[in-house]
Amino acid sequence: MAWRCNGRSNAEMVEALRDAGLITSRRVEEAMMAVDRGDFAPNQPYRDSPQGIGYHATITAPHMHANALERLHEHLFEGAKALDVGSGSGYLTAAMAVMVGPRGKVVGIEHIPQLVEMGRRNIEKHHGHLLRSGCIELVEGDGRVGKPIDGGYNAIHVGAAAPTIPMELVRQLADGGRMVVPVGTSSEHQDFIQIDREGDQFRQRKLHGVIYVPLTSREEQLR
Ligand code: SAH
Repeated sequence: MAWRCNGRSNAEMVEALRDAGLITSRRVEEAMMAVDRGDFAPNQPYRDSPQGIGYHATITAPHMHANALERLHEHLFEGAKALDVGSGSGYLTAAMAVMVGPRGKVVGIEHIPQLVEMGRRNIEKHHGHLLRSGCIELVEGDGRVGKPIDGGYNAIHVGAAAPTIPMELVRQLADGGRMVVPVGTSSEHQDFIQIDREGDQFRQRKLHGVIYVPLTSREEQLR
């Protein structure tokens, strides 16, 4: 499914993702139309591939962003609370914030201070109101421990590959919440895992193979 949903504009890219069946819900389509990837990717923003953003980080490929939003879309309802771990360029944080609306909240956590700033600048280009209203909160910190909030998160997206299921983050899911997380230590194959919380029960489902940059320490990433 990779590498083929290219476009000359954001709209063309989103239409290509929809035509390929990678976007199926109207809300995900609307969010990806509303957030222009051109504000977030330094070059070839509408090409369906990851792009380097410095500090050994990448903005994830469009089809992977679409896939994550599709997996989470029922949990990114109006007024929902969401966590974006490894917010990097800020793209997915902004798209999630568009989906949860003004009554919702998205916390983006990123451990490279320059990327926190980059994410903020990118979001400011067309969605500064989401920062000013507090709908988006960008924090510098270790995403492996998340940022606990009252009642937990309805949706958690982890944008970097964890060596094992990050239990600290699982514990921050609200009842009925869902997390998607790439898990594995290989740089060539990781499993994209979905975890659903129902009361005290956690249901885990292995979805498909993916390749993400590692969820690691700052020192290790910058080495
Ligand atoms: N989702 C973002 C970035 C994906 S790259 C986007 O699409 O633009 C993965 C990001 O995770 C990088 O920005 C990297 O710096 C960050 N990251 C890796 N380990 C982390 C950790 N322990 N805590 C917070 N962020 C981390």
